[in-house]
Amino acid sequence: MTEQKTYHGSCHCGAVSYEAKSAPIDKAMSCNCSMCARKGTLLAFIPASDFTLKSGADALTDYQFNKHVLHHVFCRTCGVTSFVRGATPDGREMIALNVRCLDEVDPDTLAISRFDGKSV
Ligand SMILES: [Zn+2]
Repeated sequence: MTEQKTYHGSCHCGAVSYEAKSAPIDKAMSCNCSMCARKGTLLAFIPASDFTLKSGADALTDYQFNKHVLHHVFCRTCGVTSFVRGATPDGREMIALNVRCLDEVDPDTLAISRFDGKSV
């Protein structure tokens, strides 16, 4: 079993903060959908059960588009999307972390893979 690490993420102003358990994050996904292409989000996926929102539930604004599968939540004060709520095709809840918002991750050291979100 892979060892789990605890990561700490937050938006820019700090209203939204969370803890996430994940296998060590050494890669991330760059998505070309109309949302991520504009934001430059780099994603790493974990099950929703490994995600704990510490603060900011009332600071999040939800934004949905296309098939409304993903909840592109962002902080209503600073506008930062520090994570995305979604589900796998078989219906399990998952979280896409924006690894750019994690304290313990240096995005410049990650292997980046491409995700063709535009075609989903
Ligand atoms: Zn904020």
